[in-house]
Amino acid sequence: MKMLAKKIIVKGIVQGVGFRPFIYRLAQQYGLRGTVSNNAHGVEIEAEGDHTSMQLFIHAINRSSPPLALIDKVESQEIDYKGFNDFIIKASNGSDERFTLISPDVAVCDDCLHELFDPNDRRYRYPFINCTNCGPRFTIIQDIPYDRPNTTMSIFPMCSDCKREYNDPANRRFHAQPNACPVCGPTVTLSDIHQNIVVADDVVRHTTTLLKAGKIIALKGLGGYHLACDATNNEAVGQLRKRKRRIEKPFAIMIPDITWLDRLCEPNRQEISFIQSINRPIVLVRRKDNSPVGNEVAPNNKYLGVMLPYTPLHHILLNDAAMPLVMTSANISEEPIAYKDRDAFERLSTIADYFLVHNRDIHMRCDDSVGAVLNNRQTMLRRSRGYVPYPVKLNIHTKQPVIAVGGHLKNTFCYMKNEFAFLSHHIGDLENYETLRSFTEGIEHFKNLFNITPEVLAYDMHPEYLSTKYAIESDIPLKIPVQHHHAHIVSCMAENNLSGEVIGVSFDGTGYGPDGTIWGGEIMTATPAGYNRIAHFDHIPLAGGEQAIREPWRIAFSLLYNTFGNDYINIDIPFIRSLQTMNALPVIEKMIRQKLNTPVTSAAGRLFDGIAALCGIKQTINYEAQAAIELQMLADEHISMYYDYDIDTAATPWKIKWQGIVKNIVDDLQQEIPVSAISQKFHNTMALIISDTSERVGKETGLQDVILSGGVFQNVLLLEKSVALLSQRGMNVHTHSRVPPNDGGLSLGQAVVAMNKAVNS
Ligand code: ZN
Ligand code: ZN
Ligand code: FE
Repeated sequence: MKMLAKKIIVKGIVQGVGFRPFIYRLAQQYGLRGTVSNNAHGVEIEAEGDHTSMQLFIHAINRSSPPLALIDKVESQEIDYKGFNDFIIKASNGSDERFTLISPDVAVCDDCLHELFDPNDRRYRYPFINCTNCGPRFTIIQDIPYDRPNTTMSIFPMCSDCKREYNDPANRRFHAQPNACPVCGPTVTLSDIHQNIVVADDVVRHTTTLLKAGKIIALKGLGGYHLACDATNNEAVGQLRKRKRRIEKPFAIMIPDITWLDRLCEPNRQEISFIQSINRPIVLVRRKDNSPVGNEVAPNNKYLGVMLPYTPLHHILLNDAAMPLVMTSANISEEPIAYKDRDAFERLSTIADYFLVHNRDIHMRCDDSVGAVLNNRQTMLRRSRGYVPYPVKLNIHTKQPVIAVGGHLKNTFCYMKNEFAFLSHHIGDLENYETLRSFTEGIEHFKNLFNITPEVLAYDMHPEYLSTKYAIESDIPLKIPVQHHHAHIVSCMAENNLSGEVIGVSFDGTGYGPDGTIWGGEIMTATPAGYNRIAHFDHIPLAGGEQAIREPWRIAFSLLYNTFGNDYINIDIPFIRSLQTMNALPVIEKMIRQKLNTPVTSAAGRLFDGIAALCGIKQTINYEAQAAIELQMLADEHISMYYDYDIDTAATPWKIKWQGIVKNIVDDLQQEIPVSAISQKFHNTMALIISDTSERVGKETGLQDVILSGGVFQNVLLLEKSVALLSQRGMNVHTHSRVPPNDGGLSLGQAVVAMNKAVNS
């Protein structure tokens, strides 16, 4: 038989994911000889064998690669036949490892799961079982190269059994850095809030007894602590709300297995595959009307945030409990999630009744990721645990490494090197010392992990953002301010591989405008280097500034006052009647008239808030965007009518007038049209405004690509209606998927804008 020799290069995310042992096993399977090694570009294989085996081998590389690998390209060429005797894994030489991609933390694999519940396996019910294909990564890595001494597993010397697996190329645990077993690895303990150990034969089983009795458990997980309680027990959930000071913001739940999803929700196929992916995000799924998980978990919300167990500890706990558990980040209101043991006991002892902890340290805090199927696409709403630090691969290539420091709310930062954008884990709202520290430490950590020395720094134009202040003090030579809504648009362009000129619709709650007003209802033409503001919503006065955001009744009043002037007082609707009983009325009227502490905004998000308050849905809120969300949740999706609106094209930029909408809604309210219908008509109208205006811009400019970005497009009703109308009119619509439409995706846009501007500076 004629023998053949080939050099095969596999590019993509193929290092540190068990790729070489995978190739080794494949080569054994097909009787090939040669070598496999890592090089600067990926994995390099020299293989010798007969023609058919070679073909099958190359085919199998693509078809059955390890779960954590992401193959970009497999290139092969014929080379001289050397006559190898066997197939070996060549050690990688150190210098090649300088830019290794690091795996995120992913869910337990099926093989490990099988062992976990096999009474004859040596890791039966062992909460830290893992292998090359699964387990902790990003959260335990302290330094590179990714070897056990550089992880928080370094304090656990492997026993001889574990070591044998670790050193055997044919074993699933070959070079699995966190490899451990009950003999040598981390252990779990249960204690009360005073750190007194609770003695039990099986602490996890005992924990489920406590959960069933309505207790709240602080549970140390992968990227931080969770607070857990029985999701079907309204009293327990209510208690958790009270102690955590989280009044109405929905809690996520963890279900024992996928069959529970059907019991609680009405999932579609995309949602099921999203929930089951190895990244294990929380996925928002429409809940059933008579779901056993009550309104207390997600008040006034049509959706439930659901996830499957992702660590072995979760699997054991949920398997024993056999019921859905609330599984929410352990913090008080908006503080960052607790992840260090001492800190957790200090901060959580007023919330939890018991602590189920373990002795493997979490090096990097990492919140759960959140996703939803929007417009038929699996879309990230928070990209964190399970995804980070995998890069978002772009079709552009930066010559100078860039860092973008993100926004103020839902902060992430982003490093860009070559064709990779390394978005950080969810840092949170940069409002307190803890989050700021997590931001600065994160920036240093990523810099070290990926060996990046940024030459360009991108930041938001808002002078008061802590991220901006950090940027100003940095000693990176080239600093580039980026307008908030431009960054949103470019973020969406980058993930959709667009680099030309587009029509950008950027709707959110707030963002700094260079004209001194607050922007957030912007329609622009944009390229990655610049933008032109074509249209925006007519200004809405925010009486009391920030206070108006927390008290949407102030916005509703502004809308009425700007539409009807002093006649507002004669309108006979419940909102006005309720205002008349408040003493605040003369004060707020004066504030608006005299423009006292009343900045103006063009933000679409504020219009949603104001309309919600006007309809009597929510006068004050206790979590971000609550009024707008509850307005969306009420909508009767069968209604297809619209309200009147005007667009003033004589103005530059064009002004989208909402006064007609307010008039129509007041009419509807006076005629006692149900709020469910009003809500839907309002959503329809907003979608119509988007498509009308985009079409008009398209006719004048010849542009056909429309980008929808900004936090408002988390609203599935608005997003899907807008996409439908725009498509009907022949526009190409682009939405987010890999990075969030909200400010969590801002840093990617900032980085790409700065990269483009840096080239020209
Ligand atoms: Zn595994
Ligand atoms: Zn062991
Ligand atoms: Fe924003």
